[in-house]
Amino acid sequence: MKTVEQHITDILALIAAPEPTELDLLRAHGTVLAADVVSPVDLPGFDNSSMDGYAVCAADLDQAAPDAPVRLPVVADIPAGDATPTAVRPGLCARIMTGAPLPEGADAVVPVEWTDGGTATVAVDRPVRVGNAIRRAGDDVREGTTVLRSGVRLGPGEMGVLAAVGRRTVPVYPRPRVVVLSTGEELVEPGRPLGHGQIWESNSFMIAAAAREAGCDVHRHGFVGDDPATVMETLEGLLGRADVVVTTGGVSMGAYDVVKEVLGRLGTVEFTQVAVQPGKPQGFGTVGPEGTPIITLPGNPVSAYVSFQVFVLPALRRLRGLAPRSLPTTRAVLTAPVASPPGRRSYLRAVLSEDTDGATAGRTVAPASRQGSHQLSALAGANALVVVPEDTTELPEGAVVEVVRLPELP
Ligand code: AMP
Ligand code: MG
Repeated sequence: MKTVEQHITDILALIAAPEPTELDLLRAHGTVLAADVVSPVDLPGFDNSSMDGYAVCAADLDQAAPDAPVRLPVVADIPAGDATPTAVRPGLCARIMTGAPLPEGADAVVPVEWTDGGTATVAVDRPVRVGNAIRRAGDDVREGTTVLRSGVRLGPGEMGVLAAVGRRTVPVYPRPRVVVLSTGEELVEPGRPLGHGQIWESNSFMIAAAAREAGCDVHRHGFVGDDPATVMETLEGLLGRADVVVTTGGVSMGAYDVVKEVLGRLGTVEFTQVAVQPGKPQGFGTVGPEGTPIITLPGNPVSAYVSFQVFVLPALRRLRGLAPRSLPTTRAVLTAPVASPPGRRSYLRAVLSEDTDGATAGRTVAPASRQGSHQLSALAGANALVVVPEDTTELPEGAVVEVVRLPELP
């Protein structure tokens, strides 16, 4: 049997690095930046007031005091966005609002709270230091500096920075387009009645959600039955909208394992057994004229889920322009004993509890009691996978184990 690492490596070998594209800012959220962004301007772009008040020459107020306020004529009114440059001379002042350009000649802003709020003349009851309440041009960003590095993910803060330096479009790696397709003659769309031997289809909802949370544009095609011709036709019809196809089901050893039957003939799709539990039967390769990567996951829901997190996620990260890392791991103390088949690495659904004082030593992990690969109830609420190494068949309560942290909801 193939090792987990080897299978990850083999899948990644199929996944080409993505091509950057220029996207409008509104569509760039959540993508990965493909080049450094340099600011073409100073931020702030001009000296401006950080408060509502009066732009003054500070020296005029040296003698100001509560019992001897200094009175200055107000010669201009400067709102934010004021397009006409203004100026003040010693002995004069201008009313100014937050964000408005500082008038030429002024070297301080007196907050309105230190004054009587006058509009023709204003009384100021205390001195002000030079530079008070002034935001200087370039004190945030200097023209020509790199504000964002290639490879960063564009979250809300990055979106703000891009807009602030005037970018309308950005070079990014677009969200990978993932098509999710399930197979199985027994499957019925949730919401429809079940016949004898039928089950509601769940894998495609689960895998589509996981791929979407992994930053992809997902098309959940739903499912097809176990007829080879239909499966092939459906797949071919979907290739135009896929950077990668993820299927579930039909890859085991049974008769009617349609994905294996259909794609096995292509010669570019390899079906293997990976030394993992759950999720032993795995396949990957390319399909169609463009050589679209396809990853075929087993049909048992828990197997499909774990396989996605272990094998598909690194590939999706590469397609997004990120390093194709596996999920982060930590160590924790088992709250119950666990078992694992010899020679295979188990990933057991579990709940990891963060220690309240942040100490790793006290972190515990509770494996779900139902670990069957068809028992998907424990997927809800699981935030971690306990890793039991290949050469270990059991671990007692209290053992310190490696734990994969599942992605958190964004
Ligand atoms: P397969 O890998 O196709 O042999 O499927 C293995 C098990 O997973 C069977 O019990 C299937 O009924 C179940 N299964 C396969 N695909 C799905 C699906 N999309 N949703 C829910 N269960 C599924
Ligand atoms: Mg099946």
